[in-house]
Amino acid sequence: MTRIDLHCHSTASDGTLTPADLMAAGREAGLDVMAITDHDTTGGWAAAAAARPPGLRLVRGAELSCRWYGVQPAIPLHLLAYLFDPTEPRLAADLAHIRSDRERRAERIVELLRADGVDISWPEVQGYAAGGSVGRPHIAQALIRAGLVRTTNEAFASRWLGTRYFVPKADLDVFEAVRAVRAAGGVAVFAHPRATRRGRVVPDKLIEELAEAGLFGLEADHEDHSPQEREHVRALAERLGLVVTGSSDFHGTHKTVRLGAFTTAPEAFERIAAAATGVPVLG
Ligand code: AMP
Ligand code: FE
Ligand code: FE
Ligand code: ZN
Repeated sequence: MTRIDLHCHSTASDGTLTPADLMAAGREAGLDVMAITDHDTTGGWAAAAAARPPGLRLVRGAELSCRWYGVQPAIPLHLLAYLFDPTEPRLAADLAHIRSDRERRAERIVELLRADGVDISWPEVQGYAAGGSVGRPHIAQALIRAGLVRTTNEAFASRWLGTRYFVPKADLDVFEAVRAVRAAGGVAVFAHPRATRRGRVVPDKLIEELAEAGLFGLEADHEDHSPQEREHVRALAERLGLVVTGSSDFHGTHKTVRLGAFTTAPEAFERIAAAATGVPVLG
């Protein structure tokens, strides 16, 4: 059986394994195909490619921070972008902009916490991010170190990073993101589109409009979807002619999910690989 996991994070964003260790872990988990999809960066691509073990095919990608501005307040969402040309200027500039805003935002969150007497610092958080795309899990790490919460999950409670110390980041308009990914020869898949346990989700009508704009697939099998939500996404994809994916959204020890916990069917992967023109699948 071919095991395909199309959504994994490394230390290039908020995962805890380096890109090289992620490749080794993929091999260990018996994967045949693995995608590296760090938040708003291709910073892990080169190290992952260099460490790719024989027998493990590598899909280079990223998870783009987006928002749908069709309602007030706008709804944040994630778009998985696969096999795009990382040198395409427009998309590269978009990613650089989001990453720098992530820094501004994380520093602001740290300021808010410090103003309330929380003993963490921006250099400490920067140290955890180690040059990668900084995110709330890195601030969570500081809160754990300070003894204020025990787990990353606890740090996302509303009294901490969920609401009380939440600061929005500069996300891309989702329609512009779909267009930018396509212009860079990539394929766009909507990550965990029905994850109601994470917050508000977009209506089916929006997904229909995104499909018309060039969205290629929907991630149905994901730990943040209930069985009913998975079924719903599957049916919607079928109706709209979109590819269905499944993946772990592995983050190392920042989450409990294991590599390959959810997988993508070989036919779906082949459709994605055939549609992309930015960079090839490696291996
Ligand atoms: P950010 O991108 O900085 O807004 O932080 C969101 C990231 O934190 C997501 O990509 C997840 O990887 C992670 N995350 C979100 N909610 C949780 C949670 N409840 N527990 C652990 N990690 C979470
Ligand atoms: Fe993440
Ligand atoms: Fe996500
Ligand atoms: Zn993810």
